[in-house]
Amino acid sequence: MGQPPRIADFRSDTVTKPTQEMRRAMYEAKVGDDVYGEDPSVNRLEELGAQLLGKEAGLFVTSGTQGNLISILTHTVPGQEIILESESHVFYYEVGSAALIGGVQTRTIPGEKGVLDPDKVEAAIRTDDIHFPATGLILLENTHNRAGGAVLSIADMTALSAISKRYCIPLHLDGARIFNAAAALGIEAKQLASQVDSVMFCLSKGLCAPVGSLIVGKKDWIERARKWRKRLGGGMRQAGILAAAGIIALEQMIERLPEDHDLAQYLATGLAEIPGLDVVFPETNIILIHLKDKNWTAPKLLERLAKEGVLATEFSPTTIRFVTHKDVNQEAADYALSVIKSILS
Ligand SMILES: *Cc1c(COP(=O)(O)O)cnc(C)c1O
Repeated sequence: MGQPPRIADFRSDTVTKPTQEMRRAMYEAKVGDDVYGEDPSVNRLEELGAQLLGKEAGLFVTSGTQGNLISILTHTVPGQEIILESESHVFYYEVGSAALIGGVQTRTIPGEKGVLDPDKVEAAIRTDDIHFPATGLILLENTHNRAGGAVLSIADMTALSAISKRYCIPLHLDGARIFNAAAALGIEAKQLASQVDSVMFCLSKGLCAPVGSLIVGKKDWIERARKWRKRLGGGMRQAGILAAAGIIALEQMIERLPEDHDLAQYLATGLAEIPGLDVVFPETNIILIHLKDKNWTAPKLLERLAKEGVLATEFSPTTIRFVTHKDVNQEAADYALSVIKSILS
C-alpha cells in the first residue's frame, strides 16, 4: 500500500456518475418551460415513471427529500400526526421538515428490520378524542436504508395497506430504492406500489441519474403536489436537460441493479471473514458492519480507511455502512477488503 491511494467509494449509490448515454441524451434533450407544462422531456419522464409504478401521474422533483416532503404536505394538514418507523429516512435524515414546514407531528414506531408491525400501527392510530391530533398519514420505507437495505415483502405491505384502507388514512411509500426491493423480490415495482397511495423514488441513486426523484400517485393528488412543489420553489423551467437522464435511468439502469446486489454479497462475504466485524448480510445493495473490537470506533476506522482511498459511511459510533453501485466493482471490493484486513490485524 505504498502507492498513492486508489478510490473505492462505498459511501452511497448517490455517488454514481451519469452514463455516456445519459450525457448524450441531456445534450440532445428537447426542452420547454416546465412551469407552463411545456417541457416534452419532463412530461415523458413523468409519464414513464407513473406507468412503471402503475399510477395515474408523476411529478419530477429535485430530490428524494423534496419528494417525501411534498408528499407529506399533500396528504396531510397542519396539526395532524404521521406514523412512521423510528429509523426511517423521513424521521432521521430530512432535517425535521415534516414538522417545520408541514406542521405535522411524527409518531415513530420501532420496526423489525425496517418492517412495522401492523398491530402496533393500528394501536397508534388516534381515536376521536379532544386531546388527540388526528392521524393523517402512514409512511413506509422500502428498501429500508438504516435497516441495511432491508426489503419489505408484498405481504408486509399488504398488511399495512389493509389498515390504511380500514381507517381511511393515506399510505405513502418512501421508495427511494424501490427498484432494488423489486429486484430482490423478483417482482415488478408496480406490485409494491399497488399497495400504497403514493410513492417517491430516486433516479439519482442506483439508477445513476445526476439529479432528481419522482413522486407518483392519482392525477388530482399529483396536481395538488405540483402546487406544493411550486410553493417550495421547485418549479424548474427547462428541466428536460435533467429529465433526459432520468428517462435513461428508467429505461436502461433498472435491469442492472442485481449486479449491485451480487457485489454486496461478495463484499459482505469477505467482510465476514475479517475478525472483529459483525456483518449484517445484505438483502440488496447495503451492508452494515458492527465493530466488536472496543479499540475501534466507526469514525476512527473510517479515517484510517479514507487515507487508503476506501470510503464508507458512519451509521452509529460502532456501525459503518457500505453501499454497492455501478461505479464500484469486484476489484474495488477486493481492494477495500485487503485494506480493512491489514488495518484491523
Ligand atoms: C436517499 C434517500 C432519500 C432522500 O433522497 P435525496 O435525493 O438524497 O434527498 C429518502 N429516503 C431514503 C430511504 C433514501 O435512502
